[in-house]
Amino acid sequence: MASIDSLGIQGDIVTPSSPSYHESIKRRSDTSVLQPSYIVYPTVADDISLALRFALSQTPPLEIAVKGGGCHASVASSSQGGLVIDLSRLNAVKVSNDKKTVAVQGGAVWGDVYSELEKHELVAVGGNVWFVGVGGLITGGGYSFLSGEYGLAVDNLLGATVALADGRIVKCNEKEEPDLFWAIRGGGNQFGIVTEFVLKTYPARGPALVGGLAYPGTELGNVLKVVQDFLKKRTPNNKINIAFGRPPPHFKPAVMVVPYFEGTESETSSIIAPFRTEITPVSDRIGIAPTCNAVSHGADAMLASVPPRALLRGALFSDLWDEMAMQVFEEWVRYTDNEETRATMIMWELGYGGKIAKVGVEETAFPVRDPHYYLIVQARHTSPESDAPARAFATKIAGIVNDFNEQKTGKKLATPANFAIGPDVESVQEVYGVNLERLRKVKAKYDPKKVWSKGWVIEPASE
Ligand SMILES: Cc1cc2nc3c(=O)[nH]c(=O)nc-3n(C[C@H](O)[C@H](O)[C@H](O)COP(=O)(O)OP(=O)(O)OC[C@H]3O[C@@H](n4cnc5c(N)ncnc54)[C@H](O)[C@@H]3O)c2cc1C
Repeated sequence: MASIDSLGIQGDIVTPSSPSYHESIKRRSDTSVLQPSYIVYPTVADDISLALRFALSQTPPLEIAVKGGGCHASVASSSQGGLVIDLSRLNAVKVSNDKKTVAVQGGAVWGDVYSELEKHELVAVGGNVWFVGVGGLITGGGYSFLSGEYGLAVDNLLGATVALADGRIVKCNEKEEPDLFWAIRGGGNQFGIVTEFVLKTYPARGPALVGGLAYPGTELGNVLKVVQDFLKKRTPNNKINIAFGRPPPHFKPAVMVVPYFEGTESETSSIIAPFRTEITPVSDRIGIAPTCNAVSHGADAMLASVPPRALLRGALFSDLWDEMAMQVFEEWVRYTDNEETRATMIMWELGYGGKIAKVGVEETAFPVRDPHYYLIVQARHTSPESDAPARAFATKIAGIVNDFNEQKTGKKLATPANFAIGPDVESVQEVYGVNLERLRKVKAKYDPKKVWSKGWVIEPASE
């Protein structure tokens, strides 16, 4: 059997004996690290086909994992003993001549995209944090600070190039391979490796009022009153997050209000005013960021010194009910009342959902198109022994939110893969929701042998 080095792969190949192996298996969270036998860094799309052929020709075939930005807290981008295709060297970003679209290679991170677009005074609908991967975020749906006006990242995807399980590399869009194009817009990693995304661009945004106002946790009820007033009046380009965190030096429970209000200082001062006058912040760090790029980069500093083990679990909800927020707060206070878990945060993302809801739930594979907000549990700790309690905590919080939603609206909203913990926690049905049956048919067409076997694996439909 041919060795991997003899196949003509142009990119680097790393194995456990390579000096860079330990660097190569690192992920954003230590919980995602496994020990693969091979890591291939494609530099051209054909490298992917060669790596695939090699992995599948082994006896038994090697498990194949694909890494984009390496941010999903599961082990979806890693493999124990298998072959990892690390897309990080496929990170070119090219703006079209007419400036209406941008072609982004599948291993880019959002910082690559925003930096290039900034040179052209453009922006695209993408992640809020610089280092998050374009590949995972888009194939999972993709919420952005621009979603209020432009919808999800998948709603702004015009076409893609995909390396399929059989080694072919195909283009897909509304006309070519339309089923594949539908499936990669929310169906995750189950249909192929996207080597290039073509995204709509928009004129550059900014400035925006960003930063954080912090209040003692005991003020949560009053903060919610001001937030509820804001939500009644806000416009699509004004978004607010509420965060529960324990800031140093005292690590007492605090409620943070994190605005993203587009406009200059004078244009946004009346919108932020109630957060300063009707309630009294103990810390006021609000300022004007010039561009989206600066905003996405701003989060890096905050996330640079967090504990190494992280878990992200989201839950979608239709309205911000005060009792729900209070119950989550109490659970979070209890869970974080020790040094090991006190970096754990809860983020309530209260963006304008109208534009997301303008797309029909069957138009793309993304499973939720009811107007909604979402909550993110960012559980962080240092010891592997805290992994199980962190999962239990995140699952409990998501359960509270899901139950409230069901009681108040009669609807159980799906948990998109990007906001789920792992296939041992959430079911395939919970993640793909109403679109699962069609996804099973598309899986049968493009990956009947389940080569893409990481994450929430879709069972191909039988004829
Ligand atoms: C700090 C932080 C901030 C976040 N902010 C946002 C946000 O603003 N909006 C939002 O919607 N989500 C956000 N998320 C969630 C994020 O979208 C998911 O974690 C996503 O899976 C990350 O993608 P990745 O490429 O970095 O991760 P990876 O772990 O590399 O990949 C995740 C999954 O996608 C697959 N994949 C990656 N690239 C490709 C590709 N090119 N083709 C096919 N499959 C691919 C992988 O195989 C894996 O299954 C955030 C997460 C973190 C940790």
